[in-house]
Amino acid sequence: MEDADRPKDDGFRALACLDGASTGIERRPPRHPGPGEVLVSLRVCGLCGTDIFKLEAASQPPGTVLGHEVVGMVEQCGVEVEGFSPGDRVVVAHHVPCGECAYCLAGSETMCEEFRENQLSPGGFSEKIIVAEAAVRSAMRTIPDSLSDDTAVFLEPAACVLRGIWRSGLEPGGASVILGGGSMGLLHLLVLKAAIPDALVGVVEPLEDRRELALALGADFSRAPETASDAVAELTGGLGADAVFDTAGGSGALLACMELGRRGSTIVLFAHAGAGEQAGFELDRLFKEERRLVASYSGGVKEQDAVWELMLSGALDPAALVSARVGLEDFSRALELVRDRRALKILIEP
Ligand SMILES: [Zn+2]
Ligand SMILES: [Zn+2]
Repeated sequence: MEDADRPKDDGFRALACLDGASTGIERRPPRHPGPGEVLVSLRVCGLCGTDIFKLEAASQPPGTVLGHEVVGMVEQCGVEVEGFSPGDRVVVAHHVPCGECAYCLAGSETMCEEFRENQLSPGGFSEKIIVAEAAVRSAMRTIPDSLSDDTAVFLEPAACVLRGIWRSGLEPGGASVILGGGSMGLLHLLVLKAAIPDALVGVVEPLEDRRELALALGADFSRAPETASDAVAELTGGLGADAVFDTAGGSGALLACMELGRRGSTIVLFAHAGAGEQAGFELDRLFKEERRLVASYSGGVKEQDAVWELMLSGALDPAALVSARVGLEDFSRALELVRDRRALKILIEP
């Protein structure tokens, strides 16, 4: 084919951070995968609370493209790529631990220096991304026809959730409570039910429609905050929960979690707090009541592997949490829906 006959590749569109908290569509030059890399054209990218947090904090340099919960099609593979071909539908996570440093060897893969690097360039709110070699090797999966985009897109967030659940030490048949019935709270419900046999799970949420959805998704109770401790007492014979998951964030939520857990229970912190916000509880609540406070900030490769198995087996299907699909050019509408608490998971479509 003569060069003049080739379709002209004039690059792709991406939603970039501008100054402060605003965003705009930019056209980026064409990209081609280097050795070990893969060029993926996006089908959907989930909007995560972390994206919103970063935007609201205006913490990103201009030109940054956010978005990291991606499902797309392999468009081109670099040399030395094995196991993927153009046309494959794939899901990929954006962080990969090295597996060899002191953090990784101690089980703190999410604290690994290499884990901080974003494996997706420029980012998921884009028509196309280059997936870096490390992610192609250990964090990218071909999606079978049996799994929809709406299910597979939860691989990364569900892995973060599963890490917190594992860190909680919740045993089969144990009683747990989730503070917050938004997208991440309800994802906790689904992952708890899928991963911990016979787990009892209550959801505490002020909005009635979210409480109803929690029940429909299998919660053992869902209550407004005012009556939550009664429901927990009922569920646990007056004892309190073994594990409480805070998906709401802030010192008030942390205190509420402490009231819902039994002595010797674990609180899992799974939410951003405002910059500089301090916890405000009596330290003896930890010491004399032997409570544990742990956090889950992200998920590593082994959590992703486990979530993928749960999805493939049909035990975990969070697709019902997708409540809106929004085009790149309507991104501000997605932010409005989240801020007004009118949507759970929003998928951004390029
Ligand atoms: Zn995220
Ligand atoms: Zn490491």
